[in-house]
Amino acid sequence: MVFSGVMAAASVAGSFTAATPSLSTSAADTNYAKLLQYSLYFYDANMCGENSATGLSWRGDCHTQDEVKGGFHDAGDHAMFGLPQGYSAATLGWGYYEFKDAYDATGQGAHLKVITDDFCDFFRRSAKMNGNTITSFLYQKGDGNMDHNYWGPPEQQDASSRRMFWASGFGGDIAGEYAAALALNYLNFGNPDDLTYAKAYYDFASRNTAVATEGCSEFYKSSSSQDERAWAAGWLYLATKDEKYKNDCLSLQNPYPGWVHEWNTVDIGAASVAAHITGDWSKVNSYLGKECNGTNYKFILKWGSARYNANLQLCALVASKNSSADYTSWAKTQMEYITGDRAFANGQTHCLVVGFKPNASKNPHHRAASGTNSAAQENDGTPTKYSLIGALCGGPVDESGTYTDVRSDYVGNEVAVDYNAGFVGAAAGLYSVFKGGSIDTSIEGVTKIYGGSNPQPQETTTQPQQTTAPPQTQQPQQTTTTPQQGGDIVLTPADMSVGTEKGDDGETNNFAEFAPQGAKSATLYYKINSNDMNTSGAFGTWNGEWMQEDFTNIKVPADKIVAVDYVIPANVGQTVKAMVFWPHGDAVTIEKVVLHKDASTPTTTTTKDTPTTTTVPTTTTTAPPATTQPQNPDLHTLWGDANCDQRVTVADAVAILQSIGNKDKYRLSATGMANADVDGIEGVTPNDALVIQQVDAGIYSQSQLPLMWGKS
Ligand code: ZN
Repeated sequence: MVFSGVMAAASVAGSFTAATPSLSTSAADTNYAKLLQYSLYFYDANMCGENSATGLSWRGDCHTQDEVKGGFHDAGDHAMFGLPQGYSAATLGWGYYEFKDAYDATGQGAHLKVITDDFCDFFRRSAKMNGNTITSFLYQKGDGNMDHNYWGPPEQQDASSRRMFWASGFGGDIAGEYAAALALNYLNFGNPDDLTYAKAYYDFASRNTAVATEGCSEFYKSSSSQDERAWAAGWLYLATKDEKYKNDCLSLQNPYPGWVHEWNTVDIGAASVAAHITGDWSKVNSYLGKECNGTNYKFILKWGSARYNANLQLCALVASKNSSADYTSWAKTQMEYITGDRAFANGQTHCLVVGFKPNASKNPHHRAASGTNSAAQENDGTPTKYSLIGALCGGPVDESGTYTDVRSDYVGNEVAVDYNAGFVGAAAGLYSVFKGGSIDTSIEGVTKIYGGSNPQPQETTTQPQQTTAPPQTQQPQQTTTTPQQGGDIVLTPADMSVGTEKGDDGETNNFAEFAPQGAKSATLYYKINSNDMNTSGAFGTWNGEWMQEDFTNIKVPADKIVAVDYVIPANVGQTVKAMVFWPHGDAVTIEKVVLHKDASTPTTTTTKDTPTTTTVPTTTTTAPPATTQPQNPDLHTLWGDANCDQRVTVADAVAILQSIGNKDKYRLSATGMANADVDGIEGVTPNDALVIQQVDAGIYSQSQLPLMWGKS
């Protein structure tokens, strides 16, 4: 995190507490960690079938007589429509794929995985197969109009006669969305069944390109299946590296993707995944550059306007991450409208995220949350009984901000699985850029709080190198080991400036300040003297500006010795300050800092494209370090080409060093990160830059990259 010089100069002497995000964000800034946390619970509210996974006290099993149980209720009703269902699952997966760092840092990855696994499990069970070929699949449950005549809890709805709609010979739009969702879930979590069904649904979509109309045309009819097929093919290419999918993704692109990513039209999503493949974001940016500017509320359509707004934020944040364009402050401004931190043109503010603030919307058009059970109560003003945590309400019906929080307004105040999908991704993207805030440890009506460690990738048949290492926490920068190898310097408290100081929240924080001595990375060890389960802090350095990297919600291990890694930036200042914000004062004893001078020392990495790895000391660099299994396949295009200019030069080494030194400012693209990892040790480190310099000097040839065991 980089602060402006003036601000940093004023605060460099102090320490910074997790409880006061005012140093990383301005005082009025949104708590993005909490926003991401809350946004996911809407899916718990809309789970259908045997709902043991729901984290809400007021939801139970429903519609268990359905021919295929499960999936999610579409909106405030209880029908299941395949097109928004597939779109939502895929878009949720996309947000995780791009902003896994936000999920890791806030501990919300496990919740996201429960949701996308639930979607994908339903999609797999919805297919009738002949070998690996889908002959038909369930694309809708319930007739929309009949379903809408019922007003009451889903648990009490008699669904014994509700209609099941099967697609055979058509439905390429929905099959395409299911394929995209399954391919993304495979990329994110590695379940081989998801990939098998992604291929099968894609094959179905390619053979049956006509869109589904029966039963759904009044509600969700796609204009074409071409965009969904391009979108699915792109993710399938990244999952398989099979050229046929790449060719399909590129040839099916709409040349003019001039519309926001949404349930019907995923052209921008398809263009974005194509850009991941080619490295060329110009088409995406030609659209976003026109749309994402100014400070007015971006109003696209009146039915669920906040949904389109949030979808555009997601696209903008993805392009900002992967290209030279930067729409991050635009997206931040837009989210301020949605969270009630910025007044609309009419002077009113509305927090459209249920439960997020005391004055947030409370009366979305949603049967289950209303707690009412008769048609007469639908709009009679009976207060809403349950808080529909995290639901994004439809939003203003015009540009000026006209909005009323009443249950009867299904244009401005409905909620839906597709409304929240882009919103979840935007919340993660904003956290990824701006950080700030913390998750809540208790929420009204919520029985499952996610936090701390993240989901382990499932074992897969396609990645045979599963190690026998014990499960390792995927918190960024956490290490579970004690590297003590050649090139390490151990600094005891006597070797450093160690003490306590008051943080911005008035609490006593611990710190240790030390000179980096040319080391590539450092590990801070400290003991927890209390019963606290989690700990947070930061590393910072002053080099003309204050650069701080926070670590949050690190789990305290059984032996109460916490070890946290820090990749020392290439442009580090004279000293590094390690700070522990929580627990406070006497509850923490700083034990030592180990400086790793040896570039071959495996260090924790938190890169986007490789799985989070944890430090494991190895006595020889030829043995692969134990890591969690790669969740994403290899994205590399040209080994060493970190800046994706199709050449390997010193500029690539510079790009790597810059990205390590200041990853907010100089971020490598997904492909660039993959290309950069050439030294045979998982993760992009200064050693990769060194290897590229050696290629430039003729010591190695490019064809020898990656060195040693490399990536598989
Ligand atoms: Zn249900």
